[in-house]
Amino acid sequence: MSERAGVLIVGGGIVGTALAWALAERGVSGVVVVDLDLAGVYASSELNAGGARATWWQPVNVETCRLTLDFFRAHAVEFGFREHGYLWLYEDEALFATARAKRTLQNAAGLGVELLAPSEVRARFPILDRGLERLIGATFSPRDGLVNPNAVRAWFRSRARERGVVFRDRDYVTGVHTERVTGQGGRLRRVAALDVVRVKRGGAGDPSGTLREILTTHRVPAGAVAGEERVACEVVVNCLGAWSSLLMAKLGVPDVTEPVRRQLSLVDVHREDLAPGVALERLGMIVLASGLYFHPEGAHVLAGYSTPDEAPGYDFDYDGGEFFESEIWPRLAERSSSFERCGHVRGWAGLYDVTPDRSGIAGAVRGFANLFEARSFTGRGVMQSYGIARAMAGLVATGRFEEVDLSPLARDRFDEPARWVKEDLHI
Ligand SMILES: Cc1cc2nc3c(=O)[nH]c(=O)nc-3n(C[C@H](O)[C@H](O)[C@H](O)COP(=O)(O)OP(=O)(O)OC[C@H]3O[C@@H](n4cnc5c(N)ncnc54)[C@H](O)[C@@H]3O)c2cc1C
Repeated sequence: MSERAGVLIVGGGIVGTALAWALAERGVSGVVVVDLDLAGVYASSELNAGGARATWWQPVNVETCRLTLDFFRAHAVEFGFREHGYLWLYEDEALFATARAKRTLQNAAGLGVELLAPSEVRARFPILDRGLERLIGATFSPRDGLVNPNAVRAWFRSRARERGVVFRDRDYVTGVHTERVTGQGGRLRRVAALDVVRVKRGGAGDPSGTLREILTTHRVPAGAVAGEERVACEVVVNCLGAWSSLLMAKLGVPDVTEPVRRQLSLVDVHREDLAPGVALERLGMIVLASGLYFHPEGAHVLAGYSTPDEAPGYDFDYDGGEFFESEIWPRLAERSSSFERCGHVRGWAGLYDVTPDRSGIAGAVRGFANLFEARSFTGRGVMQSYGIARAMAGLVATGRFEEVDLSPLARDRFDEPARWVKEDLHI
């Protein structure tokens, strides 16, 4: 069987779904989103920490995130957006000096970032009652906050569907077909069609392990195939997150990104242990100088820490109590007596797609007439989703970025280190 799509978006995580919505919103028809797993059991969009901030060091990241924050704020109730800020603690003089200098850029974008002395941190955040003697200072960005990424993605998806976007669940792209064309850039290739395998439906949460097997080995077991087809397309957009490089490899495009595991633990805090004046529910994200970050999550606290020696790979195994006890608990207790007796509830692991400069990749793929990419947003895909989608929809529809210029995020920047969009506050 063969099908035809106008704009074929490969990957229906928050980025692909936001783009589908933004295209449909501006009247582009024939948009189809293909994803192995629209429920997102292994998608980063379902496994992240829900942090949303615009306080970055690079203008393109500040701007895309600020647009996204404005969007979250306009839908605060629907998206569970809590504008409770990000508090970032510093013990390193050089890092803090840069953070101070970057306030100019951030506050020009209306972010109102404050500098806090250690005594102010203690007074305003009584939960941080330990280790303040090592603190040099902190920044507090009141417009940042916490969001429910599942609610955001569901919103994009339902609005996109209303405007005619087709979401194909359980469809896995296995191959690509290209042809030579002559365009404005001379001889180019165009993606003519994708091979798509329909994967059999398993039970909720993938008990058979088929999805996980496919997403970690990149092969579809013969017994899992329910059908195959070739889908012809006018335009293709790679929104595959941590799997993006696999599609680029099929197209013969060298890639620079790596999937890296990130783990999060849900922490049980004894209410009677909370230091006087601590109201967990009013806290936003707190980033400790050790790199550990945490925020309230329902009745618990969600805490993450990126182990620096994590090897790249498609690894979804959470290290459980061992991770909590060696990486999470000591860093929390070092800063707060409220966490002295905290307990481990559970946790999970998901993937960051990491680029050499820790910024995402967005734009048209050089050498192709109809191939685009919006991907590899490391730990920033949720908070950048709306801004990236609006800009990319302009590019796909008219050939120009709209609302925000994403040209700094072109993949060919990696050819010249001077053009890298380096982000250091990467957690
Ligand atoms: C632990 C953790 C914490 C994070 N915290 C934050 C945070 O606080 N704030 C923030 O903004 N970001 C955070 N991130 C990053 C953020 O989650 C990602 O940047 C974002 O979700 C990426 O979205 P995406 O749509 O590009 O990719 P994904 O959501 O990963 O979607 C990619 C999709 O591609 C599908 N797929 C793969 N291969 C194929 C194929 N061949 N054919 C069809 N479909 C395929 C997958 O099923 C998947 O659904 C975090 C990530 C992790 C792992």
